Amino acid sequence: MNKQTQVHKRQQSDWKSVTVRLKENDLAILNNKLRLNGFETFSEFIHAWIKGQYPLHENNEQVEKLIQRIRDKGIRDPLTGEFNPTFYRNVNTEDMLTDLSKRYAYPKHAKDLVRYFERYVDIFFSKPQLIQSESGHKRAWICDAMRKFGMYYDRKMHNPELKILIEEIIQRYELNKKMRIHDRVWLTDEGFIETMVRKALEIDGDIGTIIKFAFFSGLRGEEITYAHETPICDSLTGCNCNNLHITQKKKVSIIVLNRIVGPKHSYFTIVPTKLWHMFRSLSMVTREERNIAHMMIKSHTAGKATLMDLRKFHYNLLCRSEMGETGAEVLAGRAKSISAKHYLIHELDKISDQYSDCILEKFISP
Ligand SMILES: [Zn+2]
Repeated sequence: MNKQTQVHKRQQSDWKSVTVRLKENDLAILNNKLRLNGFETFSEFIHAWIKGQYPLHENNEQVEKLIQRIRDKGIRDPLTGEFNPTFYRNVNTEDMLTDLSKRYAYPKHAKDLVRYFERYVDIFFSKPQLIQSESGHKRAWICDAMRKFGMYYDRKMHNPELKILIEEIIQRYELNKKMRIHDRVWLTDEGFIETMVRKALEIDGDIGTIIKFAFFSGLRGEEITYAHETPICDSLTGCNCNNLHITQKKKVSIIVLNRIVGPKHSYFTIVPTKLWHMFRSLSMVTREERNIAHMMIKSHTAGKATLMDLRKFHYNLLCRSEMGETGAEVLAGRAKSISAKHYLIHELDKISDQYSDCILEKFISP
């Protein structure tokens, strides 16, 4: 064997391939993280890491501040117990998912929160300003995922300081700017929804009945008036007339409106039967009464909610319940008429039970 082949052989054996097996979902997360950190490939990242060129953001001003803050606040790495600017990388996301899943009726919600956490936590703590350019919808999810992470951390580590730090980053970098709830259909903060609904339901009198009907039915303003003034059909079986058709199931009534005005559909809605009778016996439910209801909700919630928001709250609560998105979309009139018909014919018992379990368990109806 001559010298040249010897060298060649030694070089060959110096190089080893390292492979890693990942689930498809994790692969997407990995690719996203690589991209966010300026790497084209996994190999580029490994080489930079070995050479000590990564993490690159060690010198970044935000990271310097972060180290200071986590020391001051005693926020330790959950794995090593040390102060580490990338402590969040050692969070067990499986455990976080288990923890959050217990808190949501709708498991997909917890999964989505953890997915946002995984994708954005690095950037949130090291370069939060980059999040500013994301859409309002995405920022809402990111902020909520980080807040939920802070709460989870507090439950695990008995240190509420991280929650405060996260809130400070959100405020300081204005990550929740221009995210008024009035512009969004999907709301991430469940606690906020419940507080607002309870506040709105406190209002009594005739206007209070309109407000309660608006929340429990989830109808749009003009549909509320339509449900009030349209005559009720006497026929109990398969009728195609333009009047309202009512079916009673336990404590709730199914009101079939079949109203289509432009893109606004409303096939049917579910309301507590007692409330339905109170609502129908009101003398006037016109635009004017709706306006008063709108103003009363605004003043009662310090401007945080409006009459229109009750429809969103209704939708958001049902989405997270056993009913799920499909059922909630049907009730909101966002689904195709064919699926509304399917529910009306085949799943009326189920959807009215799901409605009662979600809405009537949480909120007292008159
Ligand atoms: Zn009829």
